[in-house]
Amino acid sequence: MMTTHYDDANIFAKILAGDIPCHKVYEDDQTLAFMDIMPVTKGHVLVIPKYPATELSDLPLDYAQAVIATAQKVIKAQRQVLQTQGITQMQLNHAKAGQSVFHYHMHLVPAHFSAFAKHESASADQDELAQLAAQLSKAIDE
Ligand code: 5GP
Repeated sequence: MMTTHYDDANIFAKILAGDIPCHKVYEDDQTLAFMDIMPVTKGHVLVIPKYPATELSDLPLDYAQAVIATAQKVIKAQRQVLQTQGITQMQLNHAKAGQSVFHYHMHLVPAHFSAFAKHESASADQDELAQLAAQLSKAIDE
């Protein structure tokens, strides 16, 4: 497998290490799902592997499978909590594709694809993020 240099100081590595907080939606042995702090739309969730992969080309298949399994749980919860059917799955590989955090992450955005261009434009209200994380987390447990 081709490997890309992995920078341990990236923000998602710090979230995984517990050095920086996040609004957790779901966690298991291989993955973590949490609210995007600058959401494209309400309910925007990121799924990351607990593995130092910069992007898709670095991700072992067992972790890729685990990310997909978590994404399926999150999508189900998003549909329930946000009362929407349309969820855009997005993932950018390399700065040249617009990637800005260099730990693999899958975006799950309750929206039509065209909304994605707006990402990282405005921070969300922290209380609203916490409430959404709790609602989605509860929906996964049900
Ligand atoms: P990328 O452009 O790399 O695909 O997306 C990075 C995403 O990470 C963006 O949507 C951005 O809003 C989100 N993000 C950046 N820093 C943080 C952070 O500290 N916490 C959380 N929860 N999300 C972040």
